[in-house]
Amino acid sequence: MKTIYLDNAATTRVSDGAAAVMAKLLTEDYGNPSSLHHLGYEAEKQVAAARGTLASILGVEPSALFFTSCATESTNTALRAAARSRCHVGKHILTSKTEHSATRETLKYLEGQGFEVEMLENDGTGRVSLTDLEQKLRPDTILVSCLHVNNEIGTINPIAEMGAMIRQKSPRALFHVDAVQSFGKLTVLPQSFGIDLLSVSAHKINGPKGCGLLYIRKGLTLQPLLYGGGQEKGMRSGTENTAGICGFAQAAKEIWEMRADLTERMYGFKEQLYSGVCEAVGGVTLNGPSLRDGAPHILNLGLKDIRSEVLLHALEDYGIYVSSGSACASNKPAEKSPTLASIGRNAKEIDSALRFSFGRYTTAEEIGECIRALSELIPTLRRFTIK
Ligand code: PLP
Repeated sequence: MKTIYLDNAATTRVSDGAAAVMAKLLTEDYGNPSSLHHLGYEAEKQVAAARGTLASILGVEPSALFFTSCATESTNTALRAAARSRCHVGKHILTSKTEHSATRETLKYLEGQGFEVEMLENDGTGRVSLTDLEQKLRPDTILVSCLHVNNEIGTINPIAEMGAMIRQKSPRALFHVDAVQSFGKLTVLPQSFGIDLLSVSAHKINGPKGCGLLYIRKGLTLQPLLYGGGQEKGMRSGTENTAGICGFAQAAKEIWEMRADLTERMYGFKEQLYSGVCEAVGGVTLNGPSLRDGAPHILNLGLKDIRSEVLLHALEDYGIYVSSGSACASNKPAEKSPTLASIGRNAKEIDSALRFSFGRYTTAEEIGECIRALSELIPTLRRFTIK
């Protein structure tokens, strides 16, 4: 059976180009960048080239980028170090209600350390309210953390406007942005958006798992999470994941070069799937912003009288892979989606939410197959629902 993978917001297939780059680094240029011999020098050169590629996409100096093991590590490092470096100024931290657990849980930890974490309100589509941000920024606000694109419903936050407002109202506050779902798809320019710290992950853009990036604004000195050999200018000790880093840069270069065409194609899939499902069955609601106002690769649908987990497994029998809510929350089933709750969905509606997410390998034929499967499965499952 053919695999129809519509879970690209959870992770993506590694591109052939990235896999080839990685295979060479794993089997030929496998030196340790810290070694003084030729193989070490070769590896070091390739890591420097990878850093340069990623820096040019973000429009920053390569020296502002630090490789990590994942975006979760980038975010932990950023938030914990930012809070520690500013605790003499204040203890007030602002964040959105739709953050990924990497941010949510780190802020929960900081709350336990005596910091005051306050939530920003959003509109019914999950977009942070700038009015609320303006009201809640205080002289003792030391940190604002917000994701650019929400991983469950695809809402795009007004990051550049938020950056400008923070600079103006609380100039001593640091601004951290989780750009995991936007990097490679939308324009992310930390310097012009007023961002101090930014987290990115390789595996969402057809790069490998186990490789992340942390941008730290020039002039900002933060304490690392890990101590050891002093790699990454002491910011992230541990031998560099050279294959992962170079595979990451290759995947980023590829997706960046195809972004105009890819964005259009993904919006096309989103429209095709949404209209196809709405025509085939009733009781469909869009969770999140209108199709073109959200990120191109994420579509979240509420399917009345359907338990999304049941439908998810039924779709698996057709070779179709999707996600119920956030994949990252699936190891904590008791925790209902705070994102969907924040846009006013009740427990039953949250249980009925299914996320479809597209990528560079998605085709219109696959979307057609998915619509056909849904039009068979939804009416069947609804017949067995106790209303
Ligand atoms: N932030 C967002 C918005 C995500 O979607 C994810 C992954 O699902 C992460 C952070 C965590 O990324 P990583 O898997 O690299 O730790």
